[in-house]
Amino acid sequence: MTNTFRTLATLALLSFCHSSIAATTLIHAGELLAVPGKSPRSNQTIVVVDDRIVDVVSGFKAAADYDGDLRVVDLSDQFVLPGLMDMHVHLQGELGPDNDRDALKMSDQLMQMRSIHFAMKTLEAGFTTVRDVGSSSQEMYAMRDAINAGWIDGPRIIAAGGVGITGGHADISGVSPDLMEMFTSPNVCDGPYDCRRGARNVIKYGADWVKITSTGGVMTERATGTGQQMEADELREIVLAAARMGRKVASHAHHEDGIVAALEAGVASIEHGSYTGPRAIKLFNETGAYLVPTLLAGKTVAALALEADFMPDTVKEKAIRVGNDMAGSFARAHKAGVNNAYGTDSGISPHGTNAEEAVLMVENGMSEMDVIVTATINAADLLDMSDSIGTIEAGKFADIIAVGRSPIDNIEELLDVDFVMKGGKVYKD
Ligand SMILES: [Zn+2]
Repeated sequence: MTNTFRTLATLALLSFCHSSIAATTLIHAGELLAVPGKSPRSNQTIVVVDDRIVDVVSGFKAAADYDGDLRVVDLSDQFVLPGLMDMHVHLQGELGPDNDRDALKMSDQLMQMRSIHFAMKTLEAGFTTVRDVGSSSQEMYAMRDAINAGWIDGPRIIAAGGVGITGGHADISGVSPDLMEMFTSPNVCDGPYDCRRGARNVIKYGADWVKITSTGGVMTERATGTGQQMEADELREIVLAAARMGRKVASHAHHEDGIVAALEAGVASIEHGSYTGPRAIKLFNETGAYLVPTLLAGKTVAALALEADFMPDTVKEKAIRVGNDMAGSFARAHKAGVNNAYGTDSGISPHGTNAEEAVLMVENGMSEMDVIVTATINAADLLDMSDSIGTIEAGKFADIIAVGRSPIDNIEELLDVDFVMKGGKVYKD
């Protein structure tokens, strides 16, 4: 037998042994919010086998009640809830004065390592699933797949590939024409048929979702406003091409004209929604589309525009205006019954501070329980993953976090997550 062959045989034996003994974990939860929206229950045991929840029972069950390789996690003085989900992150960067320099000096490989570091910060903050919206594709898809394979640690990633129009918010700006040419994405498109190609192209290379930008954006270094930029025919073609291949579309949108156009085209979520007025609210409620409010991004850019000196004036103007208008828009939409899914735009704000969004949502009129619903049940629904994540119930992935006291009484408890389990593996305790 060659060495290689012997190694393979040993590996096969090991994996057989490993898979034949189910690892059971009993989690003793002092308070358990198994299903956000319903009341928490005291003194519960969550039974986890491998990566799944198999049972939730009253009282603290003892190890002696179960067979096999068994471990007890004592959270009897903690408040336990499903892993949180952030529907709007950018794991491949973090806004700061060195962004331009980093892009020139760092290798793609080093950038990728940094993305893994940001992903881990996010997981340790209690966010077990994220939707990364509009990343540079292969690095993000590789990270998603490596995490799913268990090669590296990180949250479950749903990766949206970006499709945008020439000169629009998703296109490159603020560097020399030579560099612009070099960094222009192949998924920048113009006109319905070209944008159809763009949508198909991001799916071809591995996107789970398609991310578009129906309006201008704050961080674009051109005075091109924050109103509608993509045309109705482009939006329709992208949504149709994505739907034909089983993908949903998320649209960045600030002004109401762009929110309305994207909703009319059939997108599943509107990101930011900074100027959600009556026409948009009516469409949200008719379609059931989700608003992902990203109040933390608004707060962050408005503060940076005043304090930091790295923003050009064109960006500062938009940052202060949009940043300050976002919260009121969210409050209006929430009052009018619009579906919300939790999202921060982390990467604008520092990775790992994702729970600060929850504090802002409560400050702007949403109840603590409803905020937790947006970050669990609603996010799972938006992702079409309600059968596998979002609650602590039999059959779902064991994505479970714990905090010191009830976040239903004080949402700031979410800022300090003590315990994180994802897919049955403990990442923080
Ligand atoms: Zn974003």
